[in-house]
Amino acid sequence: MDLPGTDRPAGAVSLGQLVDWLSSFRDAVHEHGAYLTELDSAIGDADHGANLIRGMDAVMAALDPAPPTAGELLKKVGMTLVTSVGGASGPLYGTFFLRAGAVAGDATDLDGDGLVALLRAGLEGIVARGKAEAGDKTMYDALAPALDAFESALGGGSGVAGATRAAADAAAAGRDATEPLQALKGRASYLGERSIGHIDPGAASAALLVAALAEAVD
Ligand code: ADP
Ligand code: MG
Repeated sequence: MDLPGTDRPAGAVSLGQLVDWLSSFRDAVHEHGAYLTELDSAIGDADHGANLIRGMDAVMAALDPAPPTAGELLKKVGMTLVTSVGGASGPLYGTFFLRAGAVAGDATDLDGDGLVALLRAGLEGIVARGKAEAGDKTMYDALAPALDAFESALGGGSGVAGATRAAADAAAAGRDATEPLQALKGRASYLGERSIGHIDPGAASAALLVAALAEAVD
């Protein structure tokens, strides 16, 4: 919540809130790790929960002390995920944060448009790395609608907190919409039609990532 008397511009997201975002995501992957692994056991190799728990524990250790700018902070998150997570999701989420960090630069407070710019760059990084398109049944199917919802909420006059809540709802809907899809990327694609009827584990973790942002910004 924005309190009067802080020197943060109204509606801006602080460096501390970015750390809260990551910390809240770490808590969420611990809380829902068994669920993520259960999803991955249906259409993958049953390691998605463990991958993200290992990755986010390493991230939070690497952020103590937290770097002084959003760019350094997000790049550190990305590097840590790339180096600590063995599965496909490590390099993909890692690239997301590395690209986001490159856009964030020296900023210490981000307004809504600044947040959109870095999240958009992150998503483009995931696409550059994994070549996912809409409907391929990946994390992209939760993240892309979340960003669209975030941008249109901001455009419609929402504050950053309201826009991140709209993004979280869209990510959850995108996650659920992966269930009837056939996987066309990643390990699940090896199953062909047998991947139909299961929620994609990466879309589920991506929905947790966006929900954690909404929680941290609120
Ligand atoms: P692995 O598949 O190597 O075991 P994880 O289980 O940690 O890695 O992550 C699997 C998730 O990664 C999938 O559910 C999917 O959302 C995501 N994923 C896999 N390949 C791609 C890709 N090419 N583009 C985007 N996301 C992908
Ligand atoms: Mg896996």
